[in-house]
Amino acid sequence: MRHPNKHIQAVIDEATESGWRLVKCGGHVWGELYCPESSRTGCIVRIHSTPQNPEQHAKRLRHQIQQCPHD
Ligand SMILES: [Zn+2]
Repeated sequence: MRHPNKHIQAVIDEATESGWRLVKCGGHVWGELYCPESSRTGCIVRIHSTPQNPEQHAKRLRHQIQQCPHD
């Protein structure tokens, strides 16, 4: 399952390589990334399917992923 935008897909690849889990959704939210902390205190990052500015959205996702204290 690939995101239609390459900038966003690149962030997803980075995240899954460092132990994040991708769960596909439908509609406005394309999917959710769950950090390696599997309890309910774990981080969730929501990926939009068609953000107005995909590069900006990718940057924000990468930033949110870097904020994770569990890795
Ligand atoms: Zn986390």
